[in-house]
Amino acid sequence: MTKTKSHRNPRMASALSGIALAAVAVTTLTGAAPAPGDWAAPAPGDVEARVEAAGLEMLDSEKLTMHIHPHLTVYAGGRQVTVPADIGIDRSGKKPRFSPLHTHDTSGTVHVESAQWQDFTLGQFLTEWGVRPMCQAEVDGTPVAGDPARIVFRDRQEITLRCR
Ligand SMILES: [Zn+2]
Repeated sequence: MTKTKSHRNPRMASALSGIALAAVAVTTLTGAAPAPGDWAAPAPGDVEARVEAAGLEMLDSEKLTMHIHPHLTVYAGGRQVTVPADIGIDRSGKKPRFSPLHTHDTSGTVHVESAQWQDFTLGQFLTEWGVRPMCQAEVDGTPVAGDPARIVFRDRQEITLRCR
């Protein structure tokens, strides 16, 4: 009697889902235009994980030894994208918790607030936001060569991202 396989090999299934995930990652990195929902702020429960992915830690209060405000304007396919409020702020608990990089409103102002002076990058902020768009960047009107993720935030910097 021949034994028929009644269900899929679980190892094969997990390998296949790994391939599917890799395909999604490649699509994102090669710059397909993000779907509209991809520009939303992370869900409250995801904030801490995003901040961790950016290499930063959540703080119980805003630390103001370093306190600067770069400003970000984002276009995708020629249309302006709203920078969401509460990027890097976890409001899921009794008291809000803060990443050193966060937004309070939709003005595009990024609050960089830290207990010590250090470099924070646009890439860390985009990781917190949860987007990985392909963009050309300008800082104070001057085009920036290379990966915009490496831009280090400075006070009152005007960063414009023109994304596909
Ligand atoms: Zn601030």
